[in-house]
Amino acid sequence: MAPLKRRAKRIKTEDLKEGENSAATVDPDARRRAGPTERGSPPSTKHIGAHLSIQGGIWKAVERCSAMGGRSLALFLGSQRSWKRPALDPSAAAQFKERCAQQGFDPAHILPHGSYLMNCGSPKDDVFEKSQAMLVDELGRCRALGLSLYNLHPGSSLGSISTAQCIQKIAGAIDHAHRQVPAVVTVLENMCGQGSTVGGEFSELKSIVEQVRDQSRVGVCLDTCHAFAAGYDLAADGGVSAMLDQFDTEVGLHYLRAIHLNDSKGPLGCHLDRHEDIGKGQIGMSAFRDIVNEPRLDHIPLILETPGRPGFEYAEQIALLYSLIERK
Ligand SMILES: [Zn+2]
Ligand SMILES: [Zn+2]
Repeated sequence: MAPLKRRAKRIKTEDLKEGENSAATVDPDARRRAGPTERGSPPSTKHIGAHLSIQGGIWKAVERCSAMGGRSLALFLGSQRSWKRPALDPSAAAQFKERCAQQGFDPAHILPHGSYLMNCGSPKDDVFEKSQAMLVDELGRCRALGLSLYNLHPGSSLGSISTAQCIQKIAGAIDHAHRQVPAVVTVLENMCGQGSTVGGEFSELKSIVEQVRDQSRVGVCLDTCHAFAAGYDLAADGGVSAMLDQFDTEVGLHYLRAIHLNDSKGPLGCHLDRHEDIGKGQIGMSAFRDIVNEPRLDHIPLILETPGRPGFEYAEQIALLYSLIERK
């Protein structure tokens, strides 16, 4: 494993192009200074974190996040391979809640990610029913973990039903789950518009939101890679602000519950879901600087789902993002 010193140096010399961020002399402790443990100044209003593994126990994700200086996190609620999972162990749930309290994580900054197996808009009856049941199960797990938000990929028509029909199914599955499990807010993620997935356009997200019965229990998470791949030009001057303006007009900013921070390997409008490390892709560093300095994104989880590379893993990317915040 590379020693910390070398990793810090790599961020300075290789990962920041000259002139892109003259103030970004990142060192391994930058995240601590900008983050929750900063001494002598108020903690940042930005909650930057990452999607972390639950291997070894669901509470481990909280420990991993805290160890890397994260202030928000995402996690899966179980295996991504199986429709049927063992019930959540109450002692694991208790440990999870204990770690959250110890490390100072507010449930509002934790956004579990739904299983990739689900398609709540599926035209196939068996898949739709299994997805609907899994949505109930996952919202129940959120409740048991003391969490209030849950992130869902809306679904896909598979090209055999219309987008409108698919949206109706998705909203129906969410309503069904909301009737079974109280309180948890279902947060729809924007997609990159690949194939027949729904949710690449803000207007599609709006349609789902509108059809969900309890609008106080539905929200949106904007993934920057997906948005860019869907054609929202975050790399343009003022692109982040323009996207948020458009989101506000088409959906409403009060529905925005989280951001997934990912650069994109593919170009604008490519409709490919290829995440890249921050500043290493087609979106580029200046959009991420705008994001961490955007007051409309205060107090919500800003979560990395980047592949990482030697010397530029989550910890370094979190530190880099905190270093881009301009202090007033
Ligand atoms: Zn996702
Ligand atoms: Zn993605």
